[in-house]
Amino acid sequence: MRFATKAIHAGQEPEPRTGSVIVPIYMTSTYSQAVGKEGYEYSRTKNPTRDALESNLAALEDGRYGFAFASGMAAITTVMTLLRKGDHVVVADDVYGGTHRLFRQIMEGYGISFDFVDFTTMPSVEAAIQDNTRMLWAETPTNPLLKVVDLRALGKLGRATDVMTVVDSTFATPYLQRPLDYGADIVVHSTTKYLGGHSDVVGGAVVTSDDGVSERLRFSQNAMGAVPSPFDCFLVLRGTKTLPLRMDRHCENASEVARFLQGRKEVAKVHYPGLGYHPQHDIAKEQMRAFGGMVSFVLSDEAKAEAFLKALRLIILGESLGGVESLIEHPASMTHASIPKEEREARGISRGLIRFSVGCEDVEDLLEDLERALQASHA
Ligand SMILES: *Cc1c(COP(=O)(O)O)cnc(C)c1O
Repeated sequence: MRFATKAIHAGQEPEPRTGSVIVPIYMTSTYSQAVGKEGYEYSRTKNPTRDALESNLAALEDGRYGFAFASGMAAITTVMTLLRKGDHVVVADDVYGGTHRLFRQIMEGYGISFDFVDFTTMPSVEAAIQDNTRMLWAETPTNPLLKVVDLRALGKLGRATDVMTVVDSTFATPYLQRPLDYGADIVVHSTTKYLGGHSDVVGGAVVTSDDGVSERLRFSQNAMGAVPSPFDCFLVLRGTKTLPLRMDRHCENASEVARFLQGRKEVAKVHYPGLGYHPQHDIAKEQMRAFGGMVSFVLSDEAKAEAFLKALRLIILGESLGGVESLIEHPASMTHASIPKEEREARGISRGLIRFSVGCEDVEDLLEDLERALQASHA
């Protein structure tokens, strides 16, 4: 099956008793052991709605095993259980703020150490690997600067050094890139974003093809218990059916928005992997189907950021991303505020930086809103 067909059908046979085309929301905590089959005992361990979502996600990522969680952070926390006290992780320096916070402020307390390095140059990743390094943690494209990591080079480095590679592929979705095909061991998603796609659910996922890793994750998923409700699984599963349709529109709109912003004098810089001058444009072109729906840009006058955001009428000021509605935010004071100021600025997250999750609206309406707000804030 090809991608759009898998998005609609994988993991979802019509229900045998009634023929229901849509997988029912099995709102049950337990199962009769007199009647039950297929190992259903308790819903933290196994639930048919979750099974359908997990199979669907695995198929979309070209993986063998999918695991669904109550949030992206729950997925990431559960992946952390693959590590032991004394282990070391090399992490991309531009990861999601919540990932940074989990690693630095929680996991370090459990005796796991982290080094944050620039994953756009593989030699610096390789140089950071120590005897006790067990995991390379990448994100691509990154948040909020949309740097792109060379997945083939990362997979190769992981194999050569026998270190597990994990890719948070939330910004790209499996429609645009499939890290397992490039040798990654584990893919992580916040399904809250494009996979859910409608800003109405919080969820996470992990996909792998490795038998050993999958067994340990299955154990941890049940033992830790950070599982999604059947209703949440239904919502994500409804989202994945239209993923290709939505992503095509997100990508088209984002390209137009990036081109528009690039031509404005109020904008000093636009970060978008689809722009020819993006430092990893060629890698993005090679490993991604299209360049995604996220655009970041820096205002020439960083003091105008607040006024600009307030002047928008259609585009909603808010955290999160990947929904059909356009969402815009200010990383320095919102999503990345938990990173210490010096570190944040060293990473290029300046006060003038704006992150835009370009939605599926008519692009002309988005451009008009941006233009009006740029003019109003710079008058
Ligand atoms: C949102 C996000 C997460 C965390 O996911 P939640 O669903 O909010 O817990 C992790 N990684 C990336 C790249 C994200 O955008």
